[in-house]
This record gives sequence, C-alpha cells and structure tokens, in this order.
Amino acid sequence: MPTIIHARYTLYKGVALDDLAVCVDGDAIVDAGALSDLIARYPEAERAGGDDFILAPAFTNAHDHGRALGTMALGHPDSFLEIWLSHLACLPSIPPYLVALYSGLQLLQSGVTAVAHSHNPISWSALAVEVPESLRGYADAGMRVAMHPPIIDQNQLVYAERNRFLRQLPAELRDEVGAADAIDLSVGDYFAILDDLYQNFHDDKHHRAHIQASPAGGQWCSDGLIIRACEWARRHRTRVQMHLLETRYQRIYAYKTWRLSFVRHLDDIGALGDWLTLAHMVWVEADDIELIAERGVGIAHNISSNLRLRSGIAPVAKLMAAGVNVGIGLDGQSMDDDQDFLREIRLAWTIGNQSGMGAADLGAAAAWRMGADIAAKITFGPRAPLGQLEIGSLADLILLDWEAVAGIWAPADFPPQELLPEFLLRRIKREHVRRVMVGGNWVLQDGEHKTVDISDVEREIWQRLRPLTGGQPSRLDAHLRKFYRGWDK
Ligand SMILES: [Zn+2]
Repeated sequence: MPTIIHARYTLYKGVALDDLAVCVDGDAIVDAGALSDLIARYPEAERAGGDDFILAPAFTNAHDHGRALGTMALGHPDSFLEIWLSHLACLPSIPPYLVALYSGLQLLQSGVTAVAHSHNPISWSALAVEVPESLRGYADAGMRVAMHPPIIDQNQLVYAERNRFLRQLPAELRDEVGAADAIDLSVGDYFAILDDLYQNFHDDKHHRAHIQASPAGGQWCSDGLIIRACEWARRHRTRVQMHLLETRYQRIYAYKTWRLSFVRHLDDIGALGDWLTLAHMVWVEADDIELIAERGVGIAHNISSNLRLRSGIAPVAKLMAAGVNVGIGLDGQSMDDDQDFLREIRLAWTIGNQSGMGAADLGAAAAWRMGADIAAKITFGPRAPLGQLEIGSLADLILLDWEAVAGIWAPADFPPQELLPEFLLRRIKREHVRRVMVGGNWVLQDGEHKTVDISDVEREIWQRLRPLTGGQPSRLDAHLRKFYRGWDK
C-alpha cells in the first residue's frame, strides 16, 4: 500500500517548499508533487504527516566511530588528538554488536538513517569477527552503514621520529612502549578480510551496507598501502575513507617527510579521486583546495570533534565555495556527548561562517545539504539514491514537530518562507524529530523506536561496563606533549 507523506513545509535541497508531498511505495519514493495531485493519483494511499510537521530528507553522518559512549564518560577526558588517541587503547571495551546497536538507535533519534562507521578494533586480529558483529548491530537498529574496517602499517606511536620519542622516555616506560606499538594484522590479511566482507555484506542495490577500504590516516599508512586501498576500492566500485590533516602535527609530518603538502603528495601517488573521502581536513592548505575540487575528493567535516580535541577549524565555507563536496560527521565526539546531529549541523554552519567581509558565506541551505544529500554522496557514492526527496530515491525521511520548533517565535505569518531553513537550523534539536522512515519503513514513531527499547540497550551496556576496570590512564601524556611541542619550533 503506498503512503503519501505531506507537511506544512518540505525541505527540498535545503529550500522550504509549501506544497511538496511525496508518495512512498516499497522502499522508494515513487512520486512527488502537490498533495492534491498525489491524492488524485493514489486515492487508495495511506497518509502520514500533516500541517503540524516539517518534512525533510533524512541525514547521513559522514564520519563516525560508533563509540556508543563518549570517552569522557569512560574516564578519559578530551585533550589534543595525539594525547587523546593514546588513551583509546586503555578504554573498557563494549561488544561491537551492542556498540553499533546503541549508536544506531541514538542516531535515528536525531534523524540520521545512514552512518559512515570507521571501526575502532578491540583487537586487530579479530577484525573479521568484530566487523560483522558491528554490521549486525546497525542492521538491528534499522540503520544503513558504510563500514570502514581500518588498517595502519606505520607510525602508530608517534608520526615519525619514533626513536627520538623512545629516547626521551624513562627507561622502564621505553621498554614497555617500544614493545607494544605494532599491530597484529598484516596488510595482506587485511585485504583478504576486506574481500570476504565485500562478498558477504556489500549491498549496492538497497544500500543497507557498503564495505569500503580504510587506510586509517595519511601518517599511519605507507604509500603502498594507500595505493592498494584505492585500487581495491576502484576495482570493487566502492570507496575509500581516510583521516587526513586533522591536526597541525599531521601537516608538519607531511612537510618533514616529503617537503610537500599532504594533498600534493597524495596526488603524486595517484590517491586523489572521486572514490576518496577525507575526514577532517582542518589543516588543508588554501592552495590545495582547487586541486581537491578538481579531483572530486569528498570531505567529512567534524566540527565538534575538532573543537573538543583542540585540532582547529576546517575552512568549510571556502571548500564549499570551491565546489568541494563537504558532508558532516560526528566522529563520536559531539559537543554534548549525545550524538545530536541537528546541533552538529548548526555548529558546522555557525562556525563555518568566519570573520571578514571577504570571507565566503556558508548559507543555511548549504548546511542542510551538508547533512543530507552531500553527506550521502561522499559516504555511499553518487550512485546511491540517498539524502533526497526525489522520485526514485530510497525513502529515508523525517518529520519534525513544527509547533515545538517554532515555539513562541513563529506566529502564523513568520518567519517568511525563504528564511525558514535558517530559522529551523538555528532552533532544531533531536527532541523535535518525531518520525523517521528508513527504506519505506517507519522506524521511529513519536520519537520512540518501534522495534527496540533503547533503555534496555543502555542497561545492558552499563551492566557489562560495571565489572570492567576502566583500564589504566595513559602515562605518555606529558611525553607526547613534549615531543610534539618540539615540532612547533
Ligand atoms: Zn575519526
């Protein structure tokens, strides 16, 4: 039975329209137009929505790690990325299924129906087991996922000059750290695992799961590994996602290693292309932006994470103005540790507009699209019909509570329709998401999950965490700080 979904306003490519309804049949949008026309064409259809709602395409979280709980809640506070990362190994581990299930349920509550999950392995050698468990968790939540099983083959401890770093450590720490910074997963085994995962889970028809290659970060991967990942992805018509230029020290690493910017080096080895999404890019050189646009590289922007981990602010308005596709991701580090994607779009938009009359503008319509169709494009590729309210698109959409968003601020004739996207973006929160549809099925109704009780999942996570010790805090903090301060000179 088809369903006609209509609303007071519909956001179409970030613009508010007052008479755009959609008709959903199966897992896709089969028709779109004025409500009266759709009723005439589908008299038997069910109806959902109404004047109390805003209809919008669902969001894609373009870069995350599915942590479920913020690291702060587990006893490891925010710090510089290089210091904070050294704490990750000390965190208590929650089974990947539960983590993905909980993360998926949280994201659906803020209207996100698809996520790029950059997996943080509990054990590298168990990657082949952990990833299917994680995929199962997202599937049970009702989410789409672009899965990024990671691989690194260098510089795990510090970006370069490992021996200099080890020499500055006290002897007992030097031996311990020096013996423990290799991973027990070879590049060959990684690609064999990736082949298996692709065979078993990659779905380029309904786009429930994509398997993509993920050399985890420019400085952690050799050129050979990055090139092989790009070749693998192109051969399988899938994508590569990689962290790049998140911190100033990653930028310095590139100049120390090649006397070139990271972007120029990656271009030299043939890694830049429309198959690639780079997460962060806070420290991208202004001179490289045109090249990134030309190569069709996507960028996942993670403003909360970049602020919390003291990385800086990416030049998103400049990137968008140059024609780079920039999508928004939470990186498991949202501002309030609650995975509220709507606040994340607001932050990206607000902070994206920088000072100076000559600065590029980042408009509200662009910000909506960075959370929806652009994020979907850089996550699932241009062929995946996601993030849009178009005929033929997969039916992933949300209904927002108009009265709750509007409050006392919006009498009947205000705001003017052309300002509505901006008005919504300034005020909207997760609590305003009332209904969420994924592939033609309502998975969230009145703000509640239809098939899973999120409080049961929370209870299970806390029961498993209680007997765990929480690990030992990193003893490397001061040494890492001293080491990288040397790079600032
Ligand atoms: Zn990340």
